[in-house]
Amino acid sequence: FEQKIRKEHAFPAVSLDGLHVRVRANIAISEELDLALRHGAEGVGLYRSEYMFMNRDTLPSEEEHYRMAKHVLRRCAPYTVVFRTFDLGADKPTKLLELEDERNPAMGMRSLRLALRERDMFLAQLRGFLRAGVHGPLAIMLPLVGGVDELGAGLDAIEEARDQLATAGVAHADDIDIGVMIETPAAALTAEHFARRVDFLSIGTNDLIQYTLAIDRENEAVSYLYQPMHPAILRLIKEVAEAGARHHVPVSLCGEMAADPRYTWVLLGLGVAELSMHPSAIPVIKHIIRSSKTDDMKDLAERVLKVDSASEADELVLATMRTRF
Ligand code: PEP
Ligand code: MG
Repeated sequence: FEQKIRKEHAFPAVSLDGLHVRVRANIAISEELDLALRHGAEGVGLYRSEYMFMNRDTLPSEEEHYRMAKHVLRRCAPYTVVFRTFDLGADKPTKLLELEDERNPAMGMRSLRLALRERDMFLAQLRGFLRAGVHGPLAIMLPLVGGVDELGAGLDAIEEARDQLATAGVAHADDIDIGVMIETPAAALTAEHFARRVDFLSIGTNDLIQYTLAIDRENEAVSYLYQPMHPAILRLIKEVAEAGARHHVPVSLCGEMAADPRYTWVLLGLGVAELSMHPSAIPVIKHIIRSSKTDDMKDLAERVLKVDSASEADELVLATMRTRF
């Protein structure tokens, strides 16, 4: 069985009735790229660029961002690499910035908010990425965006970085896709507003679950309440998928849920179009997609939306997937 999966994973994940689901990799350092490609990733759906700021004593320069991104883009071409701008603070601490002691770091100065505050650092990273974009298909993704005002500020920064390069006569990519992560209930409920302004949406369920259910993603004492199949999460995912479809904007999902074979049918059945995950999970998820029909996925998603609790939803999903795999 495992050998079969291994042979299969070089092929695209096309369901029995012909739906192609792009399966991509989440990576944090460029060394993971080979593994991702060997496991059949059709590109990188989430490059966690904040790792460039960890385990070191000085801030990375524009040149370092450029060299890293160029290396990854060249290695990955013709597939696209989605670079997430640095998502620091809260569960991703750094010693390089003076982060205040906050009572609620997850709701504090983190992620895009922090990038907008540390504007020079943000612009340096953006210039590095844009320059690297001449070496392969580049996309830029903004994390933890709360509303379109914040999105506007992020888009302005990208524009400013581009102007700086143009003024200096430095070669850079002009035509790139820009996307946002949907990681808060506010963003999920207003996904339509984002879909009108960007090229793609990517649901970050690790944070979306944390913020929707008010469960710290790292607190073991409450981890039993961290429930991906909670009815609220399912409805939010559906909402985002439908908003994307209405506006012809692809919706991907890049949280840990994407790597869990129990959830593949439900996510695709809810309308998620693409999945991005840890490289090691890719072969199994591709196998599931290749052995499934979209009607079965939709049917399961519909049934799961009708139950009242995460535990019932989990039972239903497990029972269904167990009879098939
Ligand atoms: C997420 O929040 O689901 C996500 C993919 O980003 P991270 O886990 O890096 O916060
Ligand atoms: Mg996140």
